[in-house]
Amino acid sequence: MTEQLSIKSDLPKEIARRRTFAIISHPDAGKTTLTEKFLLFGGAIQMAGQVRAKGEARRTRSDFMQMEKDRGISVSASAMSFDFGPYRFNLVDTPGHSDFSEDTYRTLTAVDAAVMVIDGAKGIESQTQKLFEVCRMRDLPILTFCNKMDRESRDTFDIIDEIQENLAIDVTPASWPIGMGRDFLGCYDMLRDRLELMDRADRNKVAESIEINGLDDPLLEEHVPADLLEKLREEVEMARELLPSLDHQAMLEGTMTPIWFGSAINSFGVKELMDGIANYGPEPQPQSASPRPVAPDEKKVAGFVFKVQANMDPKHRDRVAFVRLASGHFKRGMKLTHVRSKKPMAISNPVLFLASDRELAEEAWAGDIIGIPNHGQLRIGDTLTEGEQIRATGIPSFAPELLQGVRSGDPLKGKHLEKALMQFAEEGAAKVFKPTFGSGFIVGVVGALQFEVLASRIEMEYGLPVRFEPSQFTSARWVAGEKTAVDKFEAANKQHIARDHDGDIVYLTRLQWDIDRIERDYPDVKLTATKEMM
Ligand code: GDP
Repeated sequence: MTEQLSIKSDLPKEIARRRTFAIISHPDAGKTTLTEKFLLFGGAIQMAGQVRAKGEARRTRSDFMQMEKDRGISVSASAMSFDFGPYRFNLVDTPGHSDFSEDTYRTLTAVDAAVMVIDGAKGIESQTQKLFEVCRMRDLPILTFCNKMDRESRDTFDIIDEIQENLAIDVTPASWPIGMGRDFLGCYDMLRDRLELMDRADRNKVAESIEINGLDDPLLEEHVPADLLEKLREEVEMARELLPSLDHQAMLEGTMTPIWFGSAINSFGVKELMDGIANYGPEPQPQSASPRPVAPDEKKVAGFVFKVQANMDPKHRDRVAFVRLASGHFKRGMKLTHVRSKKPMAISNPVLFLASDRELAEEAWAGDIIGIPNHGQLRIGDTLTEGEQIRATGIPSFAPELLQGVRSGDPLKGKHLEKALMQFAEEGAAKVFKPTFGSGFIVGVVGALQFEVLASRIEMEYGLPVRFEPSQFTSARWVAGEKTAVDKFEAANKQHIARDHDGDIVYLTRLQWDIDRIERDYPDVKLTATKEMM
C-alpha cells in the first residue's frame, strides 16, 4: 500500500491527501463490484457483498426503489468516503442510466477525476462514450480500468486502439495483462516493474506481487509459463515502441488516460488502480465561481450544492443537499452564509457518507462531500460561504427535451400536486412550468423514463395518483434580455409563456421555426437552452 503522500503539493496535507472522483461505465461493466472492492481495500467494509446487501435493504423501502431495482438502474447518487493508506478517497456515485444524464453532469462538476470502467470483451459501449464526453467538457482527468480479464476478452492492443480512436484520447498502459480468460495469470506492472499474480482461490485477497528486474529477469520463468512469457515480452516491447509512456501533465489535462487491466470480482488490479488514483490524483482543484474562482487552500470555507435528494427517509420528508467543499476546513456547527438568500445557516447536523452509512460529520476539508439535511432552503447550484458574496458557476440546468402535461387523479388535490412538483423541480429531477394560460402544469424531462419515476414518486411520497399526458408544446427555452424587451416579447406571445419554479420566464413551443422566428423578430431577446442554476 502507498504509505506516504507521494505527490509534492503546495496544499495543506489534509487537503493534498484527498481524492474526489466518480466512476463512469456502461451498465454491467462492473462499477458496483469495483466500488465494493474499493471499500474493502479502504477498510470501510469487512466483507465483499455488503454494499449490495445494504443497497438492497435501502431499496426495499419504496416502490420507486423497487422500480430502480427491477430495471437494474441506479437513479440516486450518493457519496462514500474511505481511507486508503494516508489518502482519503471520496467516491461520488453517478447514476448509470442515460435518462439521467443531467444529474450525472452535475455530479461530475463535484469531482476532480473519473475512473472509466470498461468490460474487456466489450470495449467502449454507448454509455461509456456519453459519460466520457461529459467528462471531456470539463477536461476531467480519466483513469481507465479494463475489467473482466478473467473472461475471454479482446486483444490488448485492440482495446487500447479502440479507446484512442473512439474517444480521441492518448492511452498509456499502466499494466499489461498476461494471458486472458482461463489462462489469465495476472499483470506486469509497467510503472513499477513488478509482476502481479491473481489468486483465483480467494476472491477477496489482494494479489501477490513479485519484484522483478526487467522482463529478462529469470524470476519470471518461475511464475509465467514459457509461451505466455514470450508473448508478454513481445507485446510489452511493442507497447513501449508504439504507445506513449505516462505523461502526468497530459493525464491531469485530460488528454491521456493510463489503463490498468484486472478483474474486479477477483479483487485483481484494484489495488494498483487505487495506487494510481493516490499517486496521480489529482488533489482537490480550484472551483470556478463568480466574481472569482475559489482555491482549495483558502482559509475560509466555501462549498456548493451539486445535488439535492429528497425523501431519503420517507418518514421525515427530509432533503439532503450534497455539498462539495471548495475550500477551507469545515467544522460541525459552523454558521455559513447562504449566498442566494444572503441568510445565515447553522450547519448543525451535516453528514459524511462513510461507506454506505450516514455519519455525523464533525469536520471536513476542501474536496470532501458532505450532506446537509434541510427543509428546502438549499437548491442545486447554491453556494455557502463564510460571508463572501461568491457564487459557484458551471452547474447548468438543461432545457428539457420532452414535455408533458400532468393531471392529478384527484382534482381536489391541486395544491398537493403543486407542492410535489415544486419539490422535484428544486431537487433537479424535472423542470416544472406553469403556463400563463390554463390551470395545469407542464413537466419537462431529459429522458422518457423520468416521467415514470416521477409518477411513481408522487404517488409514493404524496399519496397522489397522477397522469402524464401529451402537451401541445415540445420545446422550452429560457428568455433573457433587457426588461423592456422581455416585457414586450411576453405581451405579444402570451399563449407561449410560462414560468419555471424559480419564477423565470420560459417560452414554450412545438416548432423550431418559432424559435428561429423569434431570433429574427426580437433581436434584443435571447432564447437559451441552458440556465445556470442559482
Ligand atoms: P455494474 O452494472 O457496472 O455496477 O456491474 P456489476 O458490478 O453489477 O457487475 C455486473 C456483472 O459482472 C455481475 O454479475 C458481476 O458479478 C460481474 N463481474 C464484475 N466484475 C467481474 C470480473 O472481474 N469478472 C467477471 N467474470 N465478472 C465480473
